[in-house]
Amino acid sequence: MLLPIVAYGHPNLRKICVDIGKDYPELEKLIADMFETMYASSGVGLAAPQVNLQIRLFIIDAKPYSEENPDKEAFKNVFINAHILKEEGEPWTFSEGCLSIPDIHETVERKPKVRITYYDESFVFHDETYDGFIARIIQHEYDHLEGILFVDKINPLRRLLLKRKLQDITKGDIDVAYKMVFPLLKRRP
Ligand code: ZN
Repeated sequence: MLLPIVAYGHPNLRKICVDIGKDYPELEKLIADMFETMYASSGVGLAAPQVNLQIRLFIIDAKPYSEENPDKEAFKNVFINAHILKEEGEPWTFSEGCLSIPDIHETVERKPKVRITYYDESFVFHDETYDGFIARIIQHEYDHLEGILFVDKINPLRRLLLKRKLQDITKGDIDVAYKMVFPLLKRRP
């Protein structure tokens, strides 16, 4: 089932998400729906708050990226109750986008290496270190769990220049190919 994606400006994208238990209702279905939604909107990652759930869950499938960059291996994973323990290395920049912020791509600086603990979809615990592009997707999705969006991390002048565009997204004044929830959409009679 396709889930509507919450657009920039929605207060629920700004909440700190909570851990869940094994018994979280219909978790398997939720994860399947999130993958379906992410593929339908051509994303490489999707975090629970983007489908209006304030829980520490995100999914990643970097296949589109690895197809464009054959030197990069494919990566697909589910992160439940994710907690970053450490980020390290010399920060590097990359142009990021977000399904909650359509049509905006901006350069974001992040550290290249991340150590994260999480449970997979079978609720097996993992303590792993990632680097490069996979680390970057993890950091972007993880930020959603902390109520942080990539536009918070860009140059303040760039953000000022994007203000109007961001307001348009909040109002639903954009063309987007997937279903979204816009916080300030004026309902037609
Ligand atoms: Zn995002």
